[in-house]
Amino acid sequence: MPRPRSRVCSMPGCPSIQTEPQCPTHRAERDRHQRRTTPTKVTRTYAEQKRRKAAVDTHRAKYGDWCPGYARPPHTATDLTADHIDEISLGGAPGGQLQVYCRSCNSSKAGRNRR
Ligand SMILES: [Zn+2]
Ligand SMILES: [Zn+2]
Repeated sequence: MPRPRSRVCSMPGCPSIQTEPQCPTHRAERDRHQRRTTPTKVTRTYAEQKRRKAAVDTHRAKYGDWCPGYARPPHTATDLTADHIDEISLGGAPGGQLQVYCRSCNSSKAGRNRR
């Protein structure tokens, strides 16, 4: 096996030399940054999707095709989706309470919370 090539850390101004593109310090920094900015995968698990679908089904059984409205009056909507009241990216618990809105309201909610 060929010897791994050493290189300078890709972080400008960092003189560290290692075989990875970045020194351990800056790699850890980048990982931390990615964890903060990448939405957690917990929302894509089968169990979570089932939970969201159940939340929508419960809502539909109670109210029908009805969106409570986010920053707008309640209205009829057939494309209901469940989302966390507290965005996970903002520190909400992955298993936290869900709120049902139509797709359009949910995305304006997400847009408002995003920094
Ligand atoms: Zn570095
Ligand atoms: Zn809506």
